[in-house]
Amino acid sequence: MHHILEPGPLLAEWCAEHGQPAWRARAIRRWLHGGRAESFADMSDLPRGLRADLAAAFTVWSTTVARHHRTEDGTEKLLLQLADGERIECVLLRDGQRRTVCISTQVGCAMGCVFCASGLDGVIRNLSAGEILEQVLRLARLLPGDERLSHVVVMGMGEPLANLDRLLPALAAVQEADGPGISARRITVSTVGLPKAIDRLTAANPGYHLAVSLHAPDDQLRTRLVPVNAAIGLADVMAAADRYWEASGRRLTYEYVLLGGINDSPRQARDLVTVLAGRAALVNVIPYNAVAGLPWKEPTTAAREGFLATLRDAGVNVQVRRRKGARIDAACGQLRRAAAGADSAEPSAASTIVHTIQPTSSTAASTAPRMPPSHPIQ
Ligand code: SAH
Repeated sequence: MHHILEPGPLLAEWCAEHGQPAWRARAIRRWLHGGRAESFADMSDLPRGLRADLAAAFTVWSTTVARHHRTEDGTEKLLLQLADGERIECVLLRDGQRRTVCISTQVGCAMGCVFCASGLDGVIRNLSAGEILEQVLRLARLLPGDERLSHVVVMGMGEPLANLDRLLPALAAVQEADGPGISARRITVSTVGLPKAIDRLTAANPGYHLAVSLHAPDDQLRTRLVPVNAAIGLADVMAAADRYWEASGRRLTYEYVLLGGINDSPRQARDLVTVLAGRAALVNVIPYNAVAGLPWKEPTTAAREGFLATLRDAGVNVQVRRRKGARIDAACGQLRRAAAGADSAEPSAASTIVHTIQPTSSTAASTAPRMPPSHPIQ
């Protein structure tokens, strides 16, 4: 069975082989990408025989919904079980008129950021382009019929630029007018900062909004928090980000997770101002979302406000990302870990489980906790 959401020529070829006109493939895609068809049976303008033939050759969904949580602020999070039993997360965020989806690109993550739940078990595999697109389409179907998605942020599990070959076709499908129709400028790709891959993205399509996870103003601290930095270095990250900025003309965002007593001092704020000097930058200060078992703390209010004031006084644009969805472990990888650790894990009282499936014995084995790699935490 082929996954019909996988971008590529397969559906058009299948249609040609089955004597179907070329527009048929587009019509089918429109039902799935732009419409809300759940199955071929829903495609009411297709001949019945064709619907049956399609259903025999293709599967619409490659995932099942293992959990569906919803909070009072309208944030919804899906824990999706992949065909091989692995699990990933994606989130729908409602903010004013905005309807944003946050999607994953890998099962796990190889970057090893010491405060992030996604990378604690390393990377297991890349998602396919179809699996990436499927997250967007599943979340779009959670909206009422008169609402559409407006934004995509690639800030879920995984390092998007480590899976660029699958991400780019998925994001191309997201932009199609017949599909979700979300323009590049409403798509944000967040990266730990891989210079070669940033350069590839620059060459491929500078239209996306790029967010670079900095988290520290110097190499020593950055390497401690973001171990992959040891082989890269802040200067090369900034230089690649500058090239993206020049090519796209779009202001970049630099993400900075504030960890109490680690990277939140006035001195570090001043150093960050120096690092960003001369750049049209927005700093996205992210309050640390506590991960069970990790030693990091949120900054005190005084430390956070002092850090923000130093940046603002120096003329740096700053925003503090609100913690929508924190109650349902909406930070990367947290729900997946909670679910893998104990499938009976309860979400906090403020969220509702909309839907849960029982794992089969084979899937239970594949989601068993793995040994975390050792991190240079101290
Ligand atoms: N690999 C990409 C996407 C990661 S998720 C990247 O590194 O940018 C998006 C942001 O959330 C990153 O800046 C990441 O460092 C941050 N993040 C990860 N775990 C977090 C946590 N527990 N609390 C707050 N932010 C976190």
